[in-house]
Amino acid sequence: MRPADTPITRYGARRADLEAILGDWREPRFRAEQVWAGLYGARLPLDAITTLPRPLRDALAETLPEALHAATVLTAADEMTTKWLWRTRRDGTEVETVLMRSERRATACVSSQAGCAMGCTFCATGQAGLDRHLDTGEIVEQVLRAQHACPQRVSNVVFMGMGEPLANYGPVWAAIERLHGDLGLSARQITVSTVGVVPGMRRLATEALPVTLAVSLHAPDDALRSTLVPLNHRYPIAEVLDAAAEVAAANGRRVTFEYAVIHGVNDGLDHAGALGALLGAWPGVGGAHVNLIPLNPTTGFSGRAPSPARVRAFAERAARPGVTVTVRRNRGVDIDAACGQLRARARAETG
Ligand code: SAH
Ligand code: SF4
Repeated sequence: MRPADTPITRYGARRADLEAILGDWREPRFRAEQVWAGLYGARLPLDAITTLPRPLRDALAETLPEALHAATVLTAADEMTTKWLWRTRRDGTEVETVLMRSERRATACVSSQAGCAMGCTFCATGQAGLDRHLDTGEIVEQVLRAQHACPQRVSNVVFMGMGEPLANYGPVWAAIERLHGDLGLSARQITVSTVGVVPGMRRLATEALPVTLAVSLHAPDDALRSTLVPLNHRYPIAEVLDAAAEVAAANGRRVTFEYAVIHGVNDGLDHAGALGALLGAWPGVGGAHVNLIPLNPTTGFSGRAPSPARVRAFAERAARPGVTVTVRRNRGVDIDAACGQLRARARAETG
């Protein structure tokens, strides 16, 4: 059932909703398939589905409006990264989407919530708190609107924008099913990143679609992690690792552990050694992939990223059999392309 307060939008409409609308208009039965194939199979903007008569396209555009208005669109100098700040049609709340392209793939980084209630200290989204959950249509639309601006096929979707996807499980999972079933994305090319919502992780382990799991770890011990990630008081590292192993066992996919490296906080060689030991002993199928993210500065947190040499030394110390370590390239730094930062800047500028 659709929640009563959720208006039908272009990508929030289920196929049955579309069939009902077209049936009311006495359109032939094949129209629903044409619209669906155009929106999702061909990933076209509604207006570009030329198999539909122009008046029908116009009527559908009015009845099924887009859920997101582009408030700001920024493209990095190399044109390989684009970032959108959207304002939702429903209530004007702001969310972000980033498109990252390379020769081999195009990845849409989407938001699952407007804001986030988890309060991680170094995160711009966490500093601002939770506005509300996004609905399925708002999530799916982020991918398709990015696709409309992308010359290549969007092949990957990562839930690493604003919000904690496992705190908005139902709408996020319905969006994943749409991305897989109707856009034809493979489950492994969909990544759900969580700060460690253990019940959501265990639920993920029961799903038939083997999506990739990323876990935001950020520290090798509970005392330090609790200072960065308040949720650690509720779900400490041992429980999070146990749930991650359950997901890995269920879907056979290697788990990624994200680690925002912060100078003088969690970037010591002792931290690296402890992290390597912790994950080296972790029983997850396929081993552990550690992705080091040099901290993006935010106004609400005084930390900074370590030097590249220090990050490299950290990576070398943590790596061992069963633990691969990579360093995330900071993409689109010139356009604030990190979690929640564009919105934070827009708010600062408007007072
Ligand atoms: N809520 C989910 C997914 C969104 S955040 C989660 O926390 O996993 C995506 C990633 O960006 C997380 O690993 C998060 O810790 C990281 N991140 C957030 N703010 C950051 C910052 N200022 N610098 C570097 N990484 C950051
Ligand atoms: Fe929320 Fe993730 Fe930011 Fe933590 S890092 S506040 S969980 S978006």
